[in-house]
Amino acid sequence: MQYGGDTTCIEVRTKNDEIIIIDAGTGLRRLGKQLIAEKRFHYNLIFTHAHWDHLIGFPFFRPLYMRQTRIKVHGCPFAMSYVHTMLSRVMSPPNFPVSFTDIKAHIEMDPLCPEHFVIDSVTVFPIRLSHPNQGSGYKLVEDGRTFVFLTDNELDYRHPGGLDAGAYRDFCSGAELLIHDAEFTEEEYRHFRSWGHSSYTSALDLALRADVKELGLYHLNQDRTDAEMNEIVEDCRRIITDRGSKLKCFGVTSDMSMEL
Ligand SMILES: [Zn+2]
Ligand SMILES: [Zn+2]
Repeated sequence: MQYGGDTTCIEVRTKNDEIIIIDAGTGLRRLGKQLIAEKRFHYNLIFTHAHWDHLIGFPFFRPLYMRQTRIKVHGCPFAMSYVHTMLSRVMSPPNFPVSFTDIKAHIEMDPLCPEHFVIDSVTVFPIRLSHPNQGSGYKLVEDGRTFVFLTDNELDYRHPGGLDAGAYRDFCSGAELLIHDAEFTEEEYRHFRSWGHSSYTSALDLALRADVKELGLYHLNQDRTDAEMNEIVEDCRRIITDRGSKLKCFGVTSDMSMEL
C-alpha cells in the first residue's frame, strides 16, 4: 500500500518541460490518464529491455488511441528484437482485443543505435545491463546534474553482454540520484543468483563506492510488505552511518516525485 504494486514506468521532465518516459510497465496506465488531464500529447519513450513487466502497460496507455499523440522512441534495438516487434507482439491476437494497427498515435522509431542521444536539454547515455536477455540502463545529464536509472541489473553475477561492478561504479560516479534494482535480501539472493536482480546491500555498496548523493531502492520484490520494506531502508541507513557516509537512501514508492 505504501510502496505500490505497479511495474516499471518512470517519467522525467526536462527543465523546458519536455516529457521522457522510461519503460511501459503497469504504471504507464495511470501516467496516461494524468498526461491527458494535463493535455500533454508529445512524449519521448525509452526502454530498458523487453521483459513483460516493462512492456505490459503499453496497450493500456490511453493517449495511444488519440490522433494528437506523438511518441518518439529512442535508443538501441535490443538483442534480437526491435521495439516495434516487441510492442506489436504484446498486442497481437489472441493476447489483446485491440491490434497494434488500431493505434492512432504517431509513433516514430529511431533506428540508430547512438552512443548517446539528446532529448531537449538532457543528454542520455545508455549502458548495458547485467540481466538475462540483456538490456540498457541510462544516465540522464542536464546542466551537469545526473540521474542514473539501473533496474533489472545484477551486480554480483555477470550475464552475457553485462559489465563488471567497476564499470557500473564508474558510470554512476558522483550522480545526484541513482535508482537501482534492490529486489532481494542477501539471504534471498543466495537462492536467486543469476535471475537478473541485485540484493539491496549490493545496490547500496555500489552507491557508496560511486559516491552518489541519493539512492532509491527499486524493482522491489512483489511479496514484500511495507513493514519489511521499511526495515530494509532502516538497515541501509545503519550501514551508511557505519561507513561514515552522507548518502541518502529511500525506497522508491508509487507516485513519488523528485526535483534534481
Ligand atoms: Zn527484466
Ligand atoms: Zn523487471
